[in-house]
Amino acid sequence: MLKPSVAILGLGIMGSGMAHRLLSANFPLAVYNRNREKCIPFGSAGAFVADSPREAASRSQIVLSMVADDVASRGVWIGEQGALNGAPAGSVLIESSTLSGDWIQELASKAAERSCQFLDAPVTGTKPHAASGELVFLVGGSVEALNAARPIFSALGRDTVHLGPTGSGALMKLVNNFVCGVQAASFAEAVSMVDAGGLDRAKAMSILTGGAPGSGIVKRVAERIAANDFTPNFALRWMAKDLAYALRDAFTKGISLQTAAAALALFQQAIAEGHGDEDFSAVAKLSKRLPHS
Ligand code: NAP
Repeated sequence: MLKPSVAILGLGIMGSGMAHRLLSANFPLAVYNRNREKCIPFGSAGAFVADSPREAASRSQIVLSMVADDVASRGVWIGEQGALNGAPAGSVLIESSTLSGDWIQELASKAAERSCQFLDAPVTGTKPHAASGELVFLVGGSVEALNAARPIFSALGRDTVHLGPTGSGALMKLVNNFVCGVQAASFAEAVSMVDAGGLDRAKAMSILTGGAPGSGIVKRVAERIAANDFTPNFALRWMAKDLAYALRDAFTKGISLQTAAAALALFQQAIAEGHGDEDFSAVAKLSKRLPHS
């Protein structure tokens, strides 16, 4: 079967892995990135390097955006050179970045005005999963659009979960990362308490990761602390962004996420201390001693 032509907008940690994966699976691929230098290896590997999101979208049946946040997403979809201005009617537009529910709804309406199909399809999994095609797509939107996008979800993911209408995937992702962020923040505080109390850190980590608190996310943070390696797979500033979007989305639904607010405060402090571009697990590097009175 002929593979659909695809555009990837955003060649950061996740988008670059996804683009490599599509090239190895022989999808006709166009790429766009704000910083053009990141496009060079993809051009050498056979992708069309577009000068604008509009140009990338104009030659593609499926357009997938994987950028930082709401501002970046607006930047690639909207405006004279935005992807919406180039996307052919009937094409499938996919927003896979982790974004706020409000923006996803607005973007979906704009896609409909252009007679394009739209899916919010954020992912679970991180850098190695993007590169190896083992992401899980959390999808909101119509079954028709989902079926049209299946060839690339199959190439990039190990599972695709259809959660409901537009916005359902985005909401599920915010719920997911709210829980991850809270666990990471509480584990960071646990490490401080272990150290301040003079406990043997290795023994304490083994008890926490091997026992009931030892979730996947807690284990990931513990591994990074043990290796003293905070090279980003998932940047700390994006975890803060996800907690902030989760809080905002919950607020519009009349819910107050108090643990998310507490976790966000820790991540914001970590950003203020210069850890924003490190892996989110660097929240454990915070100086958390209370000031002396
Ligand atoms: P990243 O490595 O920081 O890449 C961010 C991308 O967004 C880059 O291509 C960057 O372009 C682009 N960008 C930022 N601001 C922009 C703007 N104003 N206009 C246009 N482009 C802009 O981030 P990532 O880790 O790939 O994450 C991408 C998305 O996936 C985020 O929403 C994140 O929350 C989500 N996510 C990440 C992971 C993970 O483990 N990393 C897992 C699941 C979901 P430049 O290169 O020009 O800066």
